[in-house]
Amino acid sequence: MLTRAQTRLIDGNKIAGEIKQEVAEQVGKLSARGFQPGLAVILVGENPASQVYVRNKTRTCERLGIHSEQINLSADVSTRELLRAIGKLNQSDHIDGILVQLPLPDHIDAEQILRAVNPAKDVDGFHPVNVGKLCTGKPAFVPCTPAGILEMLKRERVPMVGERAVVIGRSNIVGKPLALLLLREHCTVTICHSRTHDLSNLSSQADILVAAVGRAGLVTGDFIKPGATVIDVGMNRAETLSQVRHLFGADPIRLETFRKKGSCLVGDVHPTQAMGIAGALTPVPGGVGPLTIGQLMRNTVLACEWRRVHSKRSSL
Ligand code: NAP
Repeated sequence: MLTRAQTRLIDGNKIAGEIKQEVAEQVGKLSARGFQPGLAVILVGENPASQVYVRNKTRTCERLGIHSEQINLSADVSTRELLRAIGKLNQSDHIDGILVQLPLPDHIDAEQILRAVNPAKDVDGFHPVNVGKLCTGKPAFVPCTPAGILEMLKRERVPMVGERAVVIGRSNIVGKPLALLLLREHCTVTICHSRTHDLSNLSSQADILVAAVGRAGLVTGDFIKPGATVIDVGMNRAETLSQVRHLFGADPIRLETFRKKGSCLVGDVHPTQAMGIAGALTPVPGGVGPLTIGQLMRNTVLACEWRRVHSKRSSL
């Protein structure tokens, strides 16, 4: 077994900072040629978590020089009105990316809404056209969290060709697209879910283990092959002192956070058990989380290049 110090913590904040720096440079070059990238975010209702996510996205746009528009609609907006708002943004030449913040209220058919976004502006990568392109290995907008994770693996020079990857979780937002991306990089991929038999045994064969489940500390030490790269996507809250102690031992910082806030953030990977077994691990917070917005900015720039710059060039 490795010693705790031998498990390398992957610094998601540092990688996200590098990505944003690169995006700002690309935005500068595009703007100088008259193509300032633009992102529109539609927020329905007043869900506090969604408000925070949207604010972070628009602020990051401002910092990187991306034009941003926020469209706030009341929680009782009809599907028709929402479709009309998306239609306008589809037509707008200076908007390259359209993002509808999820979750939507129950009375709205989310699938119909996501299908209404022009696939060329679908920077979240949720439109069936982009999902199909990803499946068939064509250039596509890829959902931001899995795309950010792949970028992280590449920048950390994690070997992928021929390696065994296990992804726990099969959601359309994280697990499935990430499995496809890993397959594209020539990993041998296994997708696990709530009905998988012998989860710990399968997981313990992985060179790259991804947990995208939403269960605090599910991935215990016996799930991890010594030296494996472990990517923890989960964002959960430990809400009792005994849970915090079970997951973090006597870590004074976590205990202090719990004392102040009454809960503390934890991933799907048992943080103390993974240390000393994993070769590299993404911490929570500070691992996968920061990459998602960086990737959204990258997708917006890509959308601008594909739709405005390349289409103009090919029409010359
Ligand atoms: P989701 O849609 O709820 O999917 C969870 C997946 O985990 C499902 O496929 C489910 O299997 C599987 N699962 C549930 N319990 C399991 C168990 N005991 N053993 C094995 N598999 C199990 O969640 P999601 O949207 O993919 O998100 C997963 C986690 O990532 C959440 O904690 C979320 O907050 C976090 N997240 C983080 C970011 C970020 O930027 N860091 C972004 C997105 C999501 P079934 O399909 O069989 O139900």
